[in-house]
Amino acid sequence: MNPSPIKTTCPYCGVGCGIEATLIDAEKHIVNIKGDAQHPANFGRLCSKGATLGDTVSLENRLLQPEINGQTTDWDSALAHVADRFSAIIAEYGPDAVGFYVSGQLLTEDYYVANKLMKGFIGSANIDTNSRLCMSSAVVGYKRAFGADAVPCSYEDLEQAELIVLVGSNAAWCHPIAFQRIRRAKESNPSLKIVVIDPRATSTCDIADLHLSIKPGMDALLFNGLLAYLAETGSLDRDFIDRHCQDFVPALAAAQACADDFDDLATACGLAAHDLAQLFAWFAKLKKVVTVYSQGINQSSSGSDKCNAIINCHLASGKIGKPGSGPFSLTGQPNAMGGREVGGLANMLAAHMDLENPLHVDRVGRFWGSDRVANRQGLKAVELFDAVADGRLKAVWIMATNPVVSMPDADKIKRALQQCPLVVVSDCIANTDTLAFAHVKLPATGWSEKDGTVTNLERRISRQRPLFAPSGQARPDWWIICQVAQRMGFAGFDYQNSAEIFREHAALSGFENDSEHGIRDFDISAFASIEQSQFDALPPIQWPVTATAMHGTARLFSDGRFYTEHGKACFIPINPRAPFHATDAEYPFTLNTGRLRDQWHTMTRTALAAKLNSHKPEPTVEIHPADALRLGFRQRGLAKLTSRWGDMLARIDITVSQQPGSLFVPMHWTGQLSSRGRVGALVNPVVDPLSGQPESKQTPVRIEAW
Ligand code: SF4
Repeated sequence: MNPSPIKTTCPYCGVGCGIEATLIDAEKHIVNIKGDAQHPANFGRLCSKGATLGDTVSLENRLLQPEINGQTTDWDSALAHVADRFSAIIAEYGPDAVGFYVSGQLLTEDYYVANKLMKGFIGSANIDTNSRLCMSSAVVGYKRAFGADAVPCSYEDLEQAELIVLVGSNAAWCHPIAFQRIRRAKESNPSLKIVVIDPRATSTCDIADLHLSIKPGMDALLFNGLLAYLAETGSLDRDFIDRHCQDFVPALAAAQACADDFDDLATACGLAAHDLAQLFAWFAKLKKVVTVYSQGINQSSSGSDKCNAIINCHLASGKIGKPGSGPFSLTGQPNAMGGREVGGLANMLAAHMDLENPLHVDRVGRFWGSDRVANRQGLKAVELFDAVADGRLKAVWIMATNPVVSMPDADKIKRALQQCPLVVVSDCIANTDTLAFAHVKLPATGWSEKDGTVTNLERRISRQRPLFAPSGQARPDWWIICQVAQRMGFAGFDYQNSAEIFREHAALSGFENDSEHGIRDFDISAFASIEQSQFDALPPIQWPVTATAMHGTARLFSDGRFYTEHGKACFIPINPRAPFHATDAEYPFTLNTGRLRDQWHTMTRTALAAKLNSHKPEPTVEIHPADALRLGFRQRGLAKLTSRWGDMLARIDITVSQQPGSLFVPMHWTGQLSSRGRVGALVNPVVDPLSGQPESKQTPVRIEAW
């Protein structure tokens, strides 16, 4: 008889699909994977990546033993070494001389203790995450508009909408199961309109009624134009604006200032006027509209403004807090949202509180029993590695991520780590590009061994449950962090399991979170005394989970009350900005980077599945036929791409899905897999000044046959 399946969660994208894993041979790590029919994110469906998870859980390429300077060692020695070196550096140079760079692959419990150690006890906010590269602009957009990093929508809204606008999102490849929900909604309701706004004609366009192949970087201008159009055509929801919003007048004035002539607006966006008019007419006329946006919006030097330009249109038309309506950002990673909840970004404290609010710092300090809680923002990802490069940071601990591949100006990360006095890397993989620079390697448990929670892009907390015992000497990330914290002399890190950490995280989210203290009810305080058995059986549930919302909260703001101090949503005046670096005669093409259907991040897991590798077996550069003809390129030839920051080689893929003047290269290839295929080496490191998110979609490059 087969054992009962173990319910867990896919570790790849932010859709957060439920999985049922049936062990065939636990010793040999053989497991049968299928979708969990009861999980509300996917109802049994899995995409190609989730379905092949069973091929990726072998011990191939696993880091299984701690190492110091290339020599294997025992845990006690490794932990003592890390704790002693961190303590010595902090004693000599202060707490801001060290940093953590963590990951949306960590579980919420791992994130919670890493944040508690750095911000609560070391006393610096130098902890940032690779989620900075994917959704930090969306966080700024939500915080500015709603007073909290609060995603208003649920997947159900996609099924109830009359119009779905996908902006800067190839959901068909990057969030496949969410996309399949949209596809099925369209099939069962053909009157549902789908508009895709994207310079590229991606697979997402297959179901679109209208594809707007916008000029790269013009999204804020387009949504400003929409706001002006809503006002001109009497399509505003005046009652909603007056009762629930503020600062509408300056936002409208800014929008009208840059969109006073419709034909000029369409031309500036690179669009046919009748196509743009069609989108505006649908948005104005249809009552239920969801705008779905992703990295094409966020990865920009003005990404935060682009997010608020979208949100402004939803506020102005009252299309928020209602079934089938709202601005819905698609988070990239499985637990980027969990990291946001516990304050895993350098500019957040914990439980949606702020570093720069003395009341919040005092509250968290009393809760944690620490008088050295950080009270100013730390270094965001690009700044953090700049500080490693220029010697301000003497020690960096990198957890479950591969910045030598994924960061912009990636060769600079190599140089920075090369000369850093202490590089600690904890990972489940043995030979990433980043581990090559580690003085200390700490073996962490992998997906199939982890035990804790993740939160998906619709705020749904789901359990990741272990399928196997930890391999070799691998230990959970939360355990490694807590062991180091204890050896540094800090109290409050003696957890016995992840349920204890989850309980504390839930308690902090509700601590002094009431009308008397004037803060939000955006918490999961209902779990503050959750028992181990309840944690083990925890069903998927949407944040917030409070005494008045014990079964979670599907949709936010349905009562028209927002998380700002005054309870109103804020319009943000937007002055659109072009990409920071313009193309020129030397670098005439705009390089866009992104994901492939069958790969994940830097391929440390997905490359283990032969089926996934067959989709796109090597780095490619997509180029329009007119550009290819002009440059004398042939299909499948080799090209060299060069920017001001680096170069790479890629196989030429001539396709009309690309606009003339633009190139697309996937982000996944590492130096290990393809010595000249790391696109991060080319990507410019300019960031959004508010979110710190890099402009990974727009780097000027040149291309030549190789
Ligand atoms: Fe996993 Fe995302 Fe695919 Fe779902 S859509 S199976 S979460 S990769």
